[in-house]
Amino acid sequence: MKAPHGTNHPTTLATLFAQADGAIDPLTGGVVPPIQPSSTFVRNKDYQPISDGHIYGRDDNDLLRLGEQILTKAEHGEDGLLFPSGMAAIAAVMRTTASGGRILLQSGIYWGTTKWVREFCQRRQIELLEVDSSNRKLLSRTIQSFRPDLVFVETPSNPLLKLVDIQAASKACSKNSSILIVDSTAATPVLTNPLDLGADIVMHSATKAINGHSDVLAGFLAVKDETLPIWQAIKTDRHDAGALLGSFEAWLLIRGMRTLPLRVERMSESALKTAGFLAEHDEVKKVFYPGLSTHPQFELAQVQMIGGFGSLMSFLVNGPSSRSLEVCGKLNLFKRATSLGGVESLVERRHSIEEAIDPNLIRISVGIENADELIADLEQALK
Ligand SMILES: *Cc1c(COP(=O)(O)O)cnc(C)c1O
Repeated sequence: MKAPHGTNHPTTLATLFAQADGAIDPLTGGVVPPIQPSSTFVRNKDYQPISDGHIYGRDDNDLLRLGEQILTKAEHGEDGLLFPSGMAAIAAVMRTTASGGRILLQSGIYWGTTKWVREFCQRRQIELLEVDSSNRKLLSRTIQSFRPDLVFVETPSNPLLKLVDIQAASKACSKNSSILIVDSTAATPVLTNPLDLGADIVMHSATKAINGHSDVLAGFLAVKDETLPIWQAIKTDRHDAGALLGSFEAWLLIRGMRTLPLRVERMSESALKTAGFLAEHDEVKKVFYPGLSTHPQFELAQVQMIGGFGSLMSFLVNGPSSRSLEVCGKLNLFKRATSLGGVESLVERRHSIEEAIDPNLIRISVGIENADELIADLEQALK
């Protein structure tokens, strides 16, 4: 990878992110890399670019490159690409599949992914199969019989926090020459590194915890082996079709990322505490959180997620189907809004958006506020 002006060789995520991989403003020595908004760059009289090969905004956006460099290192990848949203990153991967190809998608994942992939496959006459990929055997068997070009999984999944055994999925994929893509948004690069576990491509909605301040839309892909033909296709298409992140967004993203490890640590701690509280509550029927020993994949969670289980969880409240609406309505600190992974805690009644979801399911994203205050808020709302 081309390093814009990184000077450090950090070995820990905390240092990598806090120092934005050592980037500074080479012109002034400013400790923050500057925004360069130019869409085009001047050439000299011999028609050569005057600075470091900069020609046009689509090719030469230093902050975009810096963001990619930091996240690629965090995911232990060989190369990485930023996109204007998580969906743009997912679409970039899927679009490499030709008509007549086959895609295997995990069932019950982020609704935006499912909806777009279904429509895309129909439009392009691609065979689509949706399976519960948290079932290791079912997933391996299906990969073997269906022989998909792409296998797309999300772990932990949204909103039911199911885990996919990435190592097992990777083995099944290699045997059948399928490409494994892992949406690791809820885990963040702090808690899981899917490429180390055998995934070919890791995907993030950087809109969520990576940016963490609910003020940027961004998506990211990193690859284990940059010579993979699919990666070359994605890279060429990203460049030629121009699905890029602008300088201002890249700047905000890098600023937000500096505290990523700190935020994820705090959110995971608070989330575990909150999940424990909910699990004990009489008004709560069930809690979905991989950090609870009652989670059916707790054992896998302990080896696949390192240092915490993330900020996202769901729970079922007792009572009639209007009960969850009532509970959400009573919350004061948790904002009723979609999304996750931000510094502020959010709550969502998924059924109001996605009919297939149990009406009494409440999804929360735990932020960095004081955990006891968050728990007190839930306590008064559940009363
Ligand atoms: C939000 C999200 C996406 C889509 O990302 P955008 O940045 O909103 O386009 C994809 N996957 C998961 C798991 C998400 O939470």
